[in-house]
Amino acid sequence: MPELPEVESVRRGLAPHVVGRTFESVEVLPPRSNRGQDEPLSGLLEGKEISAVARRGKFMWLEFVGEDAMDPHRDVLFIHLGMSGQIRIGATESSHLRITAQLSGGVEVCFVDQRTFGYWLYAPWDKIAHIGIDPLEPDFDSAATARRLRAKRTAVKTALLDQTLTSGIGNIYADESLWDAQISPRKKASTLRQKDAVALLAAAQEVMTAALKVGGTSFDSLYVNVNGESGYFSRSLAAYGRAGQPCLRCETPLERCIISGRSTHFCPHCQ
Ligand SMILES: [Zn+2]
Repeated sequence: MPELPEVESVRRGLAPHVVGRTFESVEVLPPRSNRGQDEPLSGLLEGKEISAVARRGKFMWLEFVGEDAMDPHRDVLFIHLGMSGQIRIGATESSHLRITAQLSGGVEVCFVDQRTFGYWLYAPWDKIAHIGIDPLEPDFDSAATARRLRAKRTAVKTALLDQTLTSGIGNIYADESLWDAQISPRKKASTLRQKDAVALLAAAQEVMTAALKVGGTSFDSLYVNVNGESGYFSRSLAAYGRAGQPCLRCETPLERCIISGRSTHFCPHCQ
């Protein structure tokens, strides 16, 4: 599932193709890809000029000219990649094509989604007001987030995945951050010292920044950027998917367990 670095890679790829362009027509193939939208997407979007492509955590959205970008009630187009959503520029031959949008200047934007958990939704921005500021946003407050993390009564891994605390960290980067900070994923969040919680959030920032530099993590063909290219961070993973392989720090074989229903990879010795 795309996490922050993968969605940000898509956002960076998409923005130069669409900012300053106007929607001319939109065709939605199955109803699920614009989940919850009563009015046809085409009527809502036609004539709207895109001013920016923005993101928080795993949520990406288009901003429009004429809307006040500081107004939480402004209308935006959410583009959520779900498990397998892909944005492709130009006509795409795919049996999983869900939405095609024609923009001014002859630009065609296609939404391909094999597992159909993704969607496009035109709605007020405050639909995601409960989503926490992500660790790569300039406004991210590491000390305050660490205090809120330590108020959780769950395992620290579960707390890291709580998108209302801070957003964008999914299963892969949670395991990587905990390995990097040498914290057991099973440790109760409420038993972390403040400096360890701050170090954990710093690790999340570092790991996701490093992943972003190489275009994110691709394990299969489901996550690609707008040009259809894969990311390369899977070659750099230290914990996720490495159960039974030696820890890169202490050579103890990594273990796998389930925490809150999520597959979790960790070093039983140095975490
Ligand atoms: Zn180790």
